Amino acid sequence: MRVLFVSSEVAPFSKTGGLADVSGALPAALARAGADVRIVTPLYRSVRQGPWHLRPAGEVRVTGAFPGERVVVWEGAVPGGNVAVWFVDHPGSFDRPGLYGESGRDYPDNLERFALFCHAALSWVQVSGWQADVVHCNDWQTALIPVYLRTWPDPRWAPVGCLLTIHNLAYQGLFPAEKYPHLGLPPELYSPRYLEFWGRVNLLKGGLAFADVLSTVSETYAREIQTPELGCGLDGVLRERAADLYGILNGVDYSVWDPRNDQYLPARYGPEDLSGKRVCKAALQEEMGLRTDPSVPLFGMVSRLVEQKGVDLVAACVDRFPAAAAELVILGTGDPTYEEVLQQAAERHPGWVAVRIGFDERLAHWIEAGCDAFLMPSRYEPSGLNQLYSLRYGTVPVVRRTGGLADSVVDATPEALARGQANGFVFDDYSPEAFWSAVQRALAAYRDPATWGRLLRAGMAADFSWERTAARYLDLYRLARRKRGAVPS
Ligand code: ADP
Repeated sequence: MRVLFVSSEVAPFSKTGGLADVSGALPAALARAGADVRIVTPLYRSVRQGPWHLRPAGEVRVTGAFPGERVVVWEGAVPGGNVAVWFVDHPGSFDRPGLYGESGRDYPDNLERFALFCHAALSWVQVSGWQADVVHCNDWQTALIPVYLRTWPDPRWAPVGCLLTIHNLAYQGLFPAEKYPHLGLPPELYSPRYLEFWGRVNLLKGGLAFADVLSTVSETYAREIQTPELGCGLDGVLRERAADLYGILNGVDYSVWDPRNDQYLPARYGPEDLSGKRVCKAALQEEMGLRTDPSVPLFGMVSRLVEQKGVDLVAACVDRFPAAAAELVILGTGDPTYEEVLQQAAERHPGWVAVRIGFDERLAHWIEAGCDAFLMPSRYEPSGLNQLYSLRYGTVPVVRRTGGLADSVVDATPEALARGQANGFVFDDYSPEAFWSAVQRALAAYRDPATWGRLLRAGMAADFSWERTAARYLDLYRLARRKRGAVPS
């Protein structure tokens, strides 16, 4: 199976969120499963400046809406993963400080930038000498590819299957109608059946119409996005394609996220000996200016500080942590209002609440390892990665029952505890009361070492490796090929 994996961010080259982690790890797992995988992604300034030893692979002239634009393609590899990566180099589009924008504002030409990227990716494959059996696209930035695949005259693409994965339906690539001609598509596709969405261009919608198979990153989210509550206006489109829509929970790259070999940690540990976790807790408390008391329960959160992540619930309850003799450490960036609210809470409660505003890979690992419990009270959560990391690090997740959180965390009911399946605390209502009552249940369990030990060990034993996930994606690729008539059904 020859897979062209197209993504607008790929760890460790470029990252704003979970999509980068997926794009860095899934292709490598597919390759280990025997697939021939090539990744295509933009050459951002941060990649250009990184230590990656890229080689020029060639150049293409982009057609369609960008006649004659010259694009250079560089080749590299995912470190340790043995998967080739093609970087699309168009300085006018990608040699900028940000991936999608700066200071919280999107670049005004994102439609042009990513249309050019999609054009260039396909044009490059046509001349590269390599042929794809399936193209795997991710989110709105690559959602034009299914549209181009089915509207370009080149017959080589006819048997090539296409899977489009939705990592977060809230981001759809919406642009003013006047920009439609930049896409190089027939005018008739600007209609509510395809790319038009209430008088605007919606790139993701075009992809949803043309991809052979659709997926999203958990089974629960696959159901939720077909409802008006979480469908972001596209629930009708998704219900129409329900038969082609699958949910596959994201995996974890255990070569990066495992306390047994995590190079960022002051001490390493596994389920058989948790003494290293105690060292991590003390070091984290020290680092963050918290009271270094091993017996005090320590809650952590690493997150974009936006409403999606339930940061408003945490902000509403932040004063209750010290009152309940619990410590709280938060790492994140995002909405300046929440950054401010949380920083003020830290000032009110020195030694009990610590907040670091910023993006800090090392501290993210320390928080996963050093905390007793991890907070993810998300309003919605397509897959979520941090709760999966928490499970492996013996850090008990406290989560809202939504999306991938619902599919990975088993609430500590007496029955689930008795069966040895419980691994965390789950609440339903999106309210400070429901959130706080889950935290209180966690605090009560923490005071009972036998219960806490059972929760923690159940979490550490779980396997969310990419190997399992890759096998499921390969099934979807075969399905996409069958839909093209490329293989007998
Ligand atoms: P999303 O993609 O919606 O942001 P995920 O839970 O799927 O949420 O993935 C978030 C990823 O980004 C995780 O790897 C998490 O550790 C990381 N992350 C988020 N905020 C920060 C931060 N401030 N510093 C370091 N890592 C962060």
